[in-house]
Amino acid sequence: MTDVERLRREAEARRDRLIATRRDLHAHPEIAFQEIRTADIVAHRLAELGFEVQTGVGKTGVVGVMEGERAGDGHTLLLRFDMDALPIHEQVDVPFRSQRDGWMHACGHDAHTAIGLSVAELLAADRAAWSGTAKFVFQPAEEIVAGARAMIDDGVLENPRPDRALSLHVFSTLPTGVIAMTDGPTMAGSGAFTITVRGRGAHGAMPHQGADPILGAAHIITALQSIVSRNVNPMEQAVVTVGYVHGGTAHNIIPDDVELGGTTRAFSTAVGDLLNQRIQEIAQHTARALGVEAVVSISESATPPLINDAGLAEVVRRQARRLVGAEHVRTDVRLMGAEDAALFLQAMPGAYVFVGAGNPAKGIDEPHHSPRFQIDEDALPIAVALLTASAIDMLND
Ligand SMILES: [Zn+2]
Ligand SMILES: [Zn+2]
Repeated sequence: MTDVERLRREAEARRDRLIATRRDLHAHPEIAFQEIRTADIVAHRLAELGFEVQTGVGKTGVVGVMEGERAGDGHTLLLRFDMDALPIHEQVDVPFRSQRDGWMHACGHDAHTAIGLSVAELLAADRAAWSGTAKFVFQPAEEIVAGARAMIDDGVLENPRPDRALSLHVFSTLPTGVIAMTDGPTMAGSGAFTITVRGRGAHGAMPHQGADPILGAAHIITALQSIVSRNVNPMEQAVVTVGYVHGGTAHNIIPDDVELGGTTRAFSTAVGDLLNQRIQEIAQHTARALGVEAVVSISESATPPLINDAGLAEVVRRQARRLVGAEHVRTDVRLMGAEDAALFLQAMPGAYVFVGAGNPAKGIDEPHHSPRFQIDEDALPIAVALLTASAIDMLND
């Protein structure tokens, strides 16, 4: 088992550069598929460290590959860090605040990129400690859940083909010094649906001359609420949310059609499939009962649930317990949010860990995607030590 305490000392010794990197990225946020400057910094740093670097993977993604020198076969480990910011205007007054109006690192991916570069540095500095191949994947466009798919389409899962994956998210609503590593389903799979309710427009005073899609849409929205309460096993978790309703133009006009759109969340593909099936049935039959027609389209770019491999999760937890103490390691954190790292963990066994980065005493506890989002930088060396130690353990056996 790799000495995580030593790695923490080494991460602390490199703390200034780690934080400077994170602050530089924070000041220069780039949103999905526009991570040009970020990718450039990543590619240069990886090349300096001796990685074989490939750029433009999935548009703006960067891949760095290095082999260890320790005897033994080892594994090929995919280490994934996302790089993109959000279209949010930062409301935090710090010296390194976003220099780009309307764009902000409000989810901590600036920290992920900086952490990834530090992990790469520590692994490169101690190649004798590990066997196998480390494959660093700096991913674009997580926030629009498109970057992982784009990198996979560009062949990131081949040459060399990784057989294990490791990734993280810093978490502002968990305190610094807490690490959450949950077995099995940890983040939900997400889907999107669009329902077009087609009626026949008429005068609002003479509804009998038309077919009212607004009434149809209202009944459909209400009936969709029965999916979670009546169709999903109460021991499972699921969400069906209608997020928008577009239709109509005036007080006295019945429109031709109305469009609804929404999202679904579930921790298993089976439940996700059930949600989609019931959305179609309910929309179509409710519409027909009211004399209108519903055309349902289910998005094909769904994100699967993120499922941690129990064995690899335990590899991370073992190091986490040594690093922060067993009482600070949680195993029960699950989120309805989706995360496209799930696509990597669907392709191979992996571990996705939450690293606490909140600190209410310092006023750092805003949720992710808030314009006031901040992270506690004391969490960064902890994340670096945890990921480096876990990576070496996952590479070696
Ligand atoms: Zn986010
Ligand atoms: Zn995020």
